[in-house]
Amino acid sequence: MKQVFKTRVTEGLGIDHPIIQGGMMWVSQPKLVAAVSEAGGLGVLTALTFETAEGLADAIARTRALTDRPFGVNLTFLPTLVPKDYGSLIDVIVDQGIDIVETAGRNPEPYLERIKKGGARVIHKCTSVRFAKKAESIGCDYISIDGCECAGHPGEDDVTSLVLIPVTVDAVKIPVIASGGFADARGLVAALALGAEAMNLGTRFVATQEAPAHVNVKNWLVEATETDTMFVMRSLRNTERVLRNEVAEKVVELEKDGAGIAELAPLVSGKNGLRMLKDGEIEVGLMPAGQSVGLVHDIPTVQELIDSIIEEARRITDDRLTGMRN
Ligand code: NAD
Repeated sequence: MKQVFKTRVTEGLGIDHPIIQGGMMWVSQPKLVAAVSEAGGLGVLTALTFETAEGLADAIARTRALTDRPFGVNLTFLPTLVPKDYGSLIDVIVDQGIDIVETAGRNPEPYLERIKKGGARVIHKCTSVRFAKKAESIGCDYISIDGCECAGHPGEDDVTSLVLIPVTVDAVKIPVIASGGFADARGLVAALALGAEAMNLGTRFVATQEAPAHVNVKNWLVEATETDTMFVMRSLRNTERVLRNEVAEKVVELEKDGAGIAELAPLVSGKNGLRMLKDGEIEVGLMPAGQSVGLVHDIPTVQELIDSIIEEARRITDDRLTGMRN
């Protein structure tokens, strides 16, 4: 589809549409990433999904075999049950000439010089204005600001996108990407109206044909409503928004009894999440999802999804909003 919205994000990243696919553990794999980039958005691989440097290099090669459009690599710095070798993953990112890197979870400063030495532009995804200002001050190129509606880790401040996006836009000069609560054309127009220059979609992309998720998981997303998510791990100050199921309820119950990460690990481990996604056993672990799950009603191809969002967003701006002007 022809470009409809031109922003500093589309221009800077060399993409047609202001739509970025979130760095989702296990889900952001080559087929999905390439499909998003081919459809004119920005696909983003999650480095930790591939575990080793060789695994990441292979994923980059497989993505390049599927698309010659821009795509990025996400590096999430959050606590993990098994320590991760970020150094070797960054070596691959630099050696492979990845020129768009999304950092998340923690201040990327210790790694920034190495990442940027290869010429990469850095999108830092964060959950508060103070982190956004810090990221700008250390040389990040874009901020992806995550309202607490988001899937996964929303931070601990619980500020919704409706407020967090404009306060962030007011606080930094670099372009802002709106994350958390977005799933459709209305969200895109709202994000642009709030001052953002692109929107980030995570949950919405899990329910697409190309996402590497079992049909049981995709159907779960289609059936879930906006009230079907909940927070876990708040007591550890590592809050995660997931779909409500027995495991999530059990985690919260154990937290009330004072459980620490050692006790919670068998329930919250990402390995269980992988089983859910691969085998469709939706009761064995935690499934990150945003409140935007209430806006997910079908399982289109990525191309159909992006085309329909852009076409509908054009209609909203050209017809609906213009029609309201007197
Ligand atoms: P994992 O199996 O190592 O850990 C499972 C969960 O427990 C994760 O949420 C992790 O943050 C948390 N955790 C681990 N050790 C902890 C500790 N000492 N204290 C508090 N919390 C702890 O995780 P994984 O599934 O292999 O994923 C790898 C990394 O990617 C994790 O840090 C995870 O949080 C992150 N991730 C981020 C998102 C996102 O929202 N961007 C989505 C999925 C995973």
